[in-house]
Formats: sequence, structure tokens, C-alpha cells
Amino acid sequence: MIIVLKPNCTKEQQIAFSEMLKDTYDVKVNVWEGVHSTVLGLLGDTTPIDIEYIDAQDIVESVKRVQEPYKKANRKFHPENTVIDVGNGVKIGDGSLNIMAGPCSVESEEQIVEIAKSVKKSGATLLRGGAFKPRTSPYAFQGLKAEGLDLLKIARKETGLPIVTEIMKTSHIDMFEPVDIIQVGARNMQNFELLKELGKIDKPILLKRGLSATIEEWLMSAEYIMAGGNSKVILCERGIRTYETFTRNTLDVSAVPIVKKLSHLPVIADPSHASGKSWLVEPLAMSAVAAGVDGLIIEVHNDPPHALSDGAQSLTPKQFDKVAKKIFNLKKALDNNK
Ligand code: PEP
Ligand code: MN
Repeated sequence: MIIVLKPNCTKEQQIAFSEMLKDTYDVKVNVWEGVHSTVLGLLGDTTPIDIEYIDAQDIVESVKRVQEPYKKANRKFHPENTVIDVGNGVKIGDGSLNIMAGPCSVESEEQIVEIAKSVKKSGATLLRGGAFKPRTSPYAFQGLKAEGLDLLKIARKETGLPIVTEIMKTSHIDMFEPVDIIQVGARNMQNFELLKELGKIDKPILLKRGLSATIEEWLMSAEYIMAGGNSKVILCERGIRTYETFTRNTLDVSAVPIVKKLSHLPVIADPSHASGKSWLVEPLAMSAVAAGVDGLIIEVHNDPPHALSDGAQSLTPKQFDKVAKKIFNLKKALDNNK
């Protein structure tokens, strides 16, 4: 961290400020005295330093971080890829490609079991379905809630596929105990109280990128979970809001290699919510695989026109089968080209 002091800062003030920084944050402070101003260079772990607090000091002209504000999610301090063992032989981040497929909303036992069986046959390794749904309209279908969780458990029992589903509030954490991966949706990416509580449990957390979140804000949210002790975080690029209205969101493919470089956490992509259109799922999924994702979320429904949510972006099981084949072929070609 670099701190430029104001030209009128006295030597005594500079010394007192430097001592305070050393004592409070356990950092080394290098001082460069120029003709017009003095610059302090802070060495050590500066992640706990509140940059706004430093900026608010009378003698400070400006302050700049030269290191990322996140540590646990940072590849610099953890060079090896994190591999998350979900159970039932599923590992995310080990170089394989895992597809989490299923309907946007769990609608009935028949529906979820039928979809689970078909996506498994096509190569999906996890079943994803919403029980508690965050919907833009309060009048839209809100999910089957606890019953939806029970139906997911039945589908897991029938297929052996680990289940992934979204949590919306802290008080539901106990209810989510049987879930294999807990999803935090885009709208809750900065629900810090929820993130803190999820940091206290020993379960993989799928953290979606917020609609307008920067990569750094997204990684800081992962840091919230990890700071609590839970290092099993999977990041999901699900499209960001841009000026483009043709698609539901804009898949930020560049975020995939960027986040892989900055962090050791597994990164997956969600071409379904990024595009909002079923015919765009295949090309976006392929682009994400080429960019190096560890997995994909793909929405699949047995009857998309009658789906209770996100029918327009859902593939039929038959379409999913075709897309999955192409995805796995691409993955093989990329692996052979390493
Ligand atoms: C979802 O995954 O069903 C969902 C609502 O996605 P997002 O949080 O990315 O909008
Ligand atoms: Mn959906």
C-alpha cells in the first residue's frame, strides 16, 4: 500500500502516523521524503487495512493498494488449484469438467426424477434445481420451498447425483444440511450476513457473480465465506448486466481466465442465465469451456414451454444430450492440446 502525505505534514506527524501503522497492522513502513511530499510504502499483509480510514486522515493526500484486498481466495498465497470433493466421486477443480444440470425450479417428483435420470445419462455429474426461487416479480412462482428440497433428495436417491440448490436466507442453513452444494445466487452475492454464516459450515458453496459486481467485489464475497473458515467455494460466472438487451445478461468469458489467474478457487459458468435463450446455451457453454471453466450450469426441463420458471432458456433432455456430447468432445480436444 502506498500512502502519499500532504505537503504540510510535519516530521512529527509523519513519525506518529508511521508508528501507529506499524503497531496497529504489523506492517513495515518505508519512508521516502521528496522535495514537496513524503510517501509511505507499507510492506506486509495489508488486507486488514481499511483504505477509507487511511484516506480520511488529515495528513493523507492519497492512498493506493498495490496488493489485492483478499488473501484467502488469492492465488499468490495458495498457488495450487483448490479441488472440492463433493462426494459420490465428483471433484470440482481437478481438471475435469462437471455439468450441473436440471430445471430452474423443482416442480414435482415426476419432473425432477425424470430430468435427473436423463441428464445423468447424458453425462451430467450434478443435479441442480431450485426449491427457493428469487424472482423479480413477487407474483411469479416462488418455488416449492421445503417440499422442493425433499424432492431433490428423492432424485438424488434415484440417480446418485449430488444436489445443488439455492439458499436465500440465513435461517434456512440447517434446513439445507442434506444439500451437497449450496448455491448463493447473483442477488445475494453481497448478502454479507448470509456469507458469514455460510463461512461457518463445512459444505461447498457455489457463489454466483452479482449482476453488476466487479471481479474484485466477487472475490471479496468469496473471501467473506473463506474468512469464516469454509474454504470450499466455487465461483460461477453467470453473466453481468451491460447495455445490451438482446440477451438476458452478457456472459463475461474474460472473467474465467482472469479469476483463474487471480484465485485458486474452481470457476464454472452458467450460459443459461447469461443468455436467457436456449439456442445460445451451446455456443456460450463452448466458449466458457474453451476459456477454461471447471464446470457448467445448464438448465434442462422436460417441457420448457410449460416450465414454471426460465422455460425460454431451458434445453429439453434431447437437446441437452446433443450439447453435452459437443461439450465433452471439445473438452477432450482441449485436453489433448495441452
Ligand atoms: C438460478 O440459478 O436459478 C438463478 C436465479 O440464477 P442467478 O442468481 O444467477 O440469477
Ligand atoms: Mn433459472
